[in-house]
Order: sequence, then C-alpha cells, then structure tokens
Amino acid sequence: KICVVGSANLDLNTYTNRLPVPGETLHAHRFTMGYGGKGANQAVMAARLGADVVLVARVGNDLFGRDMLAHLRTEGIDTRRVTSTDGVPTGTAVITVDDAGRNTIAVTPGANGLLAPADVDAARSAIESARVLVCQQEVPIETNLAAMRLAVEAGVPVVFNPAPASTTIPAEAYRLSTVFCPNEHEAAVLTGKPVESPEEAEAAARELMARGAHNVVVTLGARGCVVVTARDVTALPAPAVEAVDTTGAGDAFIGSLAFFLARGDDLMTAAQRANRIAAISVQSPGTQTSFPRAADLPADLVE
Ligand code: ADP
Repeated sequence: KICVVGSANLDLNTYTNRLPVPGETLHAHRFTMGYGGKGANQAVMAARLGADVVLVARVGNDLFGRDMLAHLRTEGIDTRRVTSTDGVPTGTAVITVDDAGRNTIAVTPGANGLLAPADVDAARSAIESARVLVCQQEVPIETNLAAMRLAVEAGVPVVFNPAPASTTIPAEAYRLSTVFCPNEHEAAVLTGKPVESPEEAEAAARELMARGAHNVVVTLGARGCVVVTARDVTALPAPAVEAVDTTGAGDAFIGSLAFFLARGDDLMTAAQRANRIAAISVQSPGTQTSFPRAADLPADLVE
C-alpha cells in the first residue's frame, strides 16, 4: 500500500493561435479538461501499476471536486481521506497554449491550500500502515512535515518530491526524506548552482544529502536520472524515445518509483524501472492520459 499526501487539480486547457494580450478576447480553437495536481497524478500512476493507493487531499464541494472524486475512484484509489471542503473551489490550473506551444498558466490552489496537519492525523493509520509515503510541495509544508514525521516514526520510507521548485525547504524535510527526488530545475533552485549534467546532478545531490536527505534521485529529462546513496552513485540513462509531450513525466517517474519501492525493489532497480515508465509517458499527449497501465507494459517491468 502507498499513501500519497498532496494536491488534486483540474487542468483547463485552452488552445489559441497566439497568447492573448491584456484586455483582449481571442477565439480559441480547442478546449480540454485534464486531471492534474502532483498528488493526484502520482497516486494515479502508482495505482495504474497495481498499487493500493490512499490519497490524502482536499477538493472543493463543487462540480470539479465531485468529478475529481469520481475519477480517482475509477482509478481504484482509496478516496476516504479526500475531503470535500465547503467554501473553497477545487484547485485549478487555467492554461493557455498557443500554436508555437508556448503557454501561460495560472494555478489557484483552492482546497489544496487547506490540507492541514489535522487531515494527516485523520489519515494516521493509512500512513503508518503504508509501504511508502509520497509528498510534494503543492500543499502546505506543515502538512507534509506532519505526514513525514508519522511515517518516519513508524519506519515507513518517505519519497519527497520538492516540486514545484522553491528556494528553501525546512531542514526537517531533508532529514525526513528517505528519497529526496527533485528534477534538475528544482535541484538547481535549491542549491543555487546549475544542474544540467549527471556530474552537476551528483554534486547537487551531495549537497542535498549534507542537508539531511538519506538518498537523492535527480531526474534529468531525456537523460534519465542520477541516483545517489550513502554508498554509491549511478547515472541511469532513460530509453531513447520520441517525446511528444513531457507534461507529467516527473509525476509518472515519482509514482512509479513509489510503486517499485513499495513492492520491495532496491532504489537503483526502482529508479531504473521508473525511468522506463516515465519514458513511455512522454510518448503520448496529456498528463494522466499518458500514464501506462500494468497490463500494457512489458512483462519484465511489472512481473
Ligand atoms: P519533470 O517532468 O519534473 O520536468 P523530468 O523532465 O526530469 O521531470 O522527467 C522525469 C523523467 O521522465 C526522466 O527522469 C525520464 O525518466 C523521463 N523523461 C522525461 N523526458 C524524457 C525524454 N525526452 N525521453 C525519455 N525519457 C524522458
């Protein structure tokens, strides 16, 4: 079983020839809605691989919130700890994409901003009985810390994904991270140094470990990831694929990593397999729509 504490958003995507300027109304040629939020994405990825997943989250008591709950249930996720909240909207990302692929994005955290340590207390037994706890940064940090403390006290490994990027993270969050897993941009923002090559990723990982993280996995887009533990460093290249849409690749990676760790794989094996699954996700459009299911994967990946 995997417990994910995090965000759930509806993505509202509008496609226009060019981005509108202030005061302008443009005709859009397409509109789509997508399920998002890093917490929900990672939960869905792990569930599609076959994990029992409990999501601890908040949605609004509104159309989007009800739709999100129904969607999560369809994915087989345990939603008993997803609280429908009066008086706030479900989190949304309003996205405009132009013909050149440029975008503007406005995220309203809504109910995600109200996910509180009390919600974590209510989910205590789910956290303590999990094989892995997964947290990201789209909900208040006190909430993440509360969950991570419970997990660590119960001997449950914690995967912490410091996304979206922030310049500072409380020292305790590093110490509570069994696996601290930023992408190159987040690693660069946290260390204040460029992170582009596997060598730079290793240097950043060492610095994050000096701050208390037990193990670090830095994802490097098409170049895969670098895994740094107290004992060794391994650069794991991603399979060479034709990427059509990398949105959500990081979430596919984290959700898969959690799945394989929960199943008992060592960190290196889990990261290698997560690389392969994330590389599959970049070959089709959308976020959750691009996440594969266990049945669609080569047998050696999910056994
Ligand atoms: P994020 O989505 O957070 O920016 P990354 O870009 O680092 O994260 O991608 C996460 C993972 O997705 C990578 O470690 C890799 O496994 C996979 N991935 C991303 N882009 C590609 C690509 N172009 N080809 C193959 N794999 C990719």
